[in-house]
Amino acid sequence: MGYKLQSLHITHYKHKSLNLKLSILFLLFFPVFLSAQKYIFYFIGDGFGVGALTYCENMAKEKGDTLCFTQFPVTGFITTHSADSLVTCSAAAATALASGEKTNNGMLNISPDLKRKLTPISKTLHQQGFSVGIATSVSLDHATPAGFYAHSTSRTDYYDIAKQLAVSGFEFFAGSGFRQPEPARTVSIFKLLKDNQYTVSTSIRQCAESQSIKNVLIQPQGKNVKQLPYAIYKDKTDFTLPQITRLGIEKLTALEKPFFFMVEGGLIDWAAHDNLSKELYGEVKEFSEAIEVALNFYKQNADETLIIVTADHETGGIITVSKGIRFNSKDHTGNIVPVFAIGKGAENFSGLYDNTHITSKILQFCN
Ligand SMILES: [Zn+2]
Repeated sequence: MGYKLQSLHITHYKHKSLNLKLSILFLLFFPVFLSAQKYIFYFIGDGFGVGALTYCENMAKEKGDTLCFTQFPVTGFITTHSADSLVTCSAAAATALASGEKTNNGMLNISPDLKRKLTPISKTLHQQGFSVGIATSVSLDHATPAGFYAHSTSRTDYYDIAKQLAVSGFEFFAGSGFRQPEPARTVSIFKLLKDNQYTVSTSIRQCAESQSIKNVLIQPQGKNVKQLPYAIYKDKTDFTLPQITRLGIEKLTALEKPFFFMVEGGLIDWAAHDNLSKELYGEVKEFSEAIEVALNFYKQNADETLIIVTADHETGGIITVSKGIRFNSKDHTGNIVPVFAIGKGAENFSGLYDNTHITSKILQFCN
């Protein structure tokens, strides 16, 4: 009996000492766990090719502006062709940039043979515990944002794409609106969002004050659901890309988890399609200001943050000539596009490679 008690006592003592050792280990490593967060910013300038970059860099110099990302320490280029064309559309390009695989023009995250659903990096990271934010200057159901949460054989199935947004579980969405929120004989996207615990706000302030974990910010009724106004025509009531980037960072950091945040400058492409040079510069400048917001976050969290800035394809076939610029196309081209990177893991983004390689480079940083 005495022996048994003694051995029990010894066992108890051993546990105590083990607990103590574990506590010390925990205390030693807990700050490391806390600081080992990962923050990924993925900026996509839709249609922002080397021609537009040359033009905008020249314009910035002329106006005394700076485009912050052009000074990032790492630069590279990506090829942009889709599975079925040398000239990609934004849906196939978003698939490559999000899921790391090529598909045919017009399709989102479905393999060219229609047999496989492709998984966007946003979903992979969400499953690993990251919070996810998606922001754009066009509608949330448009090709580039949709590439980060939806699968579709047709990029224009806006209602079906928006339905997938409502069940994505991602924490933050901001954009101009939804193109087909309630087609006849369907359940409204707004009801689906509510059913899935999303709070839909129509002002930055309302969204900032929302206590929900999951938030959607869109423009108020009466504004064009397809796009935010061009930067150069905005009034005080219009959202800007830097504003929604700042809001997204606030919302995502409040969740105290690592995060992945995709921000699209969607109107760079639209201005280039219409060969509008002033509007184009305004969009690129606003895109740069949004990146500057992320850059300020990076400066506070340098060891945990990676910022990638790239494009899905080139639009407009822009060349600089002696008298200014010339648009050679009203459509996309197959030209390579630039990549800029800063932060942890940025060194992997130099050189010329395919757009399908970006996701694996980001995942290298995450794992
Ligand atoms: Zn386009």
